[in-house]
Amino acid sequence: MPTFVYMTRCDGCGQCVDICPSDIMHIDTTYRRAFNIEPNMCWECYACVKACPQDFVSPIRTTPWGSIKSPAEYEAPSAEAMNSQQLAHEPEALKIDALPALTPDKFKQGLV
Ligand code: SF4
Ligand code: SF4
Repeated sequence: MPTFVYMTRCDGCGQCVDICPSDIMHIDTTYRRAFNIEPNMCWECYACVKACPQDFVSPIRTTPWGSIKSPAEYEAPSAEAMNSQQLAHEPEALKIDALPALTPDKFKQGLV
């Protein structure tokens, strides 16, 4: 979701303007508040949200605040897990038994 600005909390400091890689956060010259001039060009990187000193809470969270464990709260990965190409908590975090993978015979299908 592209960013938007809560007009009642923005003080026009310009931090979001300075940090936006897409150069789409601008300050309205009449109201002295920031606004996203072109939401379709927003990378959704949220650099502006992080830079904003008004401590906005992003409305895009899908989990309750504070419910995500930090890496230190998990058991250290085994040596086998460290050598695996799977990312941490795959595949169980994706709620599947195994990641889909191509078999060697599937690779040949495109060549004949
Ligand atoms: S999310 Fe990123 S690209 Fe979008 S307005 Fe903020 S800083 Fe710019
Ligand atoms: S960083 Fe926050 S307070 Fe500052 S101009 Fe941007 S939206 Fe407004």
